[in-house]
Amino acid sequence: MKSSPFRALLAMLAHHKGALTLAVVLSLVGSGLGLAQPLVINRLISTVGQGPIAHLAWILVGLLVVSSVLGAFQSYLLTVTAETAVKATRHDLISHLLRLPIAVYDRHRTGDLVTRLGSDTTIIRSAFTGGLVSAIGGLATMIGAIILMAMVDVFMLGLVLAVVTVTLIAVIGSSTLIQRYTRRAQEAVGDLGAGMDRALVAVRTIRASGAQDSVETGLRADADNAWLQGVRIARVAALIFPATGLAMQGSFLLVLGIGGARVAAGTITVADLVTFVLYLFMVSMPLGTIFGAITTIRQAMGAIERINQIMDEEPESVDGSPARPAHSVRFDDVSFSYSDDTPVLVDVSVDIPAGTKTAIVGPSGSGKSTMLALIERFYDPDSGRLYLGDQDMAGLTRASVRGIVGYVEQEAAVLAGTVRDNLLLATPDATDEQCWWALDQVNLRERMEEAEGLDTVLGDRGLTLSGGQRQRLALARMLLMDSPILLLDEPTSAVDSQNEQLILDAIDASAADRTLVVVAHRLSTVTDADQIIVLDDGRVAGVGTHASLMESSELYRDLASRQLLA
Ligand code: ADP
Repeated sequence: MKSSPFRALLAMLAHHKGALTLAVVLSLVGSGLGLAQPLVINRLISTVGQGPIAHLAWILVGLLVVSSVLGAFQSYLLTVTAETAVKATRHDLISHLLRLPIAVYDRHRTGDLVTRLGSDTTIIRSAFTGGLVSAIGGLATMIGAIILMAMVDVFMLGLVLAVVTVTLIAVIGSSTLIQRYTRRAQEAVGDLGAGMDRALVAVRTIRASGAQDSVETGLRADADNAWLQGVRIARVAALIFPATGLAMQGSFLLVLGIGGARVAAGTITVADLVTFVLYLFMVSMPLGTIFGAITTIRQAMGAIERINQIMDEEPESVDGSPARPAHSVRFDDVSFSYSDDTPVLVDVSVDIPAGTKTAIVGPSGSGKSTMLALIERFYDPDSGRLYLGDQDMAGLTRASVRGIVGYVEQEAAVLAGTVRDNLLLATPDATDEQCWWALDQVNLRERMEEAEGLDTVLGDRGLTLSGGQRQRLALARMLLMDSPILLLDEPTSAVDSQNEQLILDAIDASAADRTLVVVAHRLSTVTDADQIIVLDDGRVAGVGTHASLMESSELYRDLASRQLLA
């Protein structure tokens, strides 16, 4: 469901109605005190030389001090409220961004998502601080003045209101442009964030290819686009301000001209005309603030649109019953595609029996990693069923399935923090002793002992570890989880043969009492597997042991001969 940005903004404002009401009251009191100052000055001037003026001077000083203190407090209150609203929005976004279905991350770029959390939320602040409250205070003054004007001359009030209404409609109309341009500007900032994020991740490749200039051109284009939208906003805003000025001058001229004629005709008195003109001043002064507030609210709505695009995505479903521990997995006629057009898995039916080591092999892009992603329930099959033991996976909670099925991804992630932080990700209660045991299993103990043990800080993207070491650290994390089923997506690159052997040893260490499913990009890893599933373009092209497949499967023989195993 798509939610309206205006309603979202109202809900956000309503959430802070206590603070906002107080701010409005302060602003009303402040303008009251402001209005009183000329009166006191008037008295002061007329009393000079005629009698004591000290008390009047003190009253004036008091008014000045109190109204500045109130003003300062109001501004502090609004800014804090705005920051609180930004914080609340960020909390919601953080929690949402970590729980969306994996498919949503496929659709959005990381850098763009990060921009929404950082930059778009910041724009919301302006809805609170950008004159909204003083506009409400001003609106109250305006309404009061309009009522008083009606008591003086309804006909002339009609003229004034006609001019003001026409301008208001024009301003509100053009302010939708501001919302649109703000959204576009933020989209450009999102593109920029996403582009820069990718460029920094691939900075070595870019540097090695000498591609700084072309990457820079692309990123500059995004920055230029954000600038262009900002200029467009400035253009609309620049039109709005003179429009309001014009409207007020028009009203004054109308009132003076027609009012003069009415005085001449004897319809109203000169005193009435003067009073009316004074009230007209009180109507016109807040108009600028109100139009300014409309502009900032439009900007906030543009940002909220982008935030809502994320908030409107349903988080990954948490429904289902908890899974009972199981050691086997079965694919029953499973078909799956990431998007509608290209099938990735077609009618896959395979058994992965308890306690076995099963390897999935096949040409690159044949759907091997996708099979693991389905077992881990990152995605749901389009048709067919997956069973965990005898339980249909569709009826189980994802969390409980993931508690039973450990997963080590191809580009094993290392989070910022220490080795211990990384190991304890899934099992926060594991002891140091258990951590060392796991590191031992994956042959990382020595490496860590050379460094600072479990307290060794790993780089932001684990840059201090090699690809193979990262994979082994991820494996150690899974060993601590002690899950009955372990999925392992073998790293394709960045692993030398020594590292490969270490990973093989680690896999064997992890195989005890476990069902192991390994996506093998090198057949050498899996010739000893109990069962090998050969995938060809999303279909199962054969199942068997190395020896039997060498007999029966041409594709397997082909793969083997290309990898010098034949
Ligand atoms: P393998 O592991 O055998 O190399 P994958 O399972 O990774 O193959 O990919 C199978 C097919 O699905 C490929 O054509 C790939 O381009 C596509 N694919 C993989 N991941 C995604 C994704 N997240 N979104 C869309 N398509 C994907």
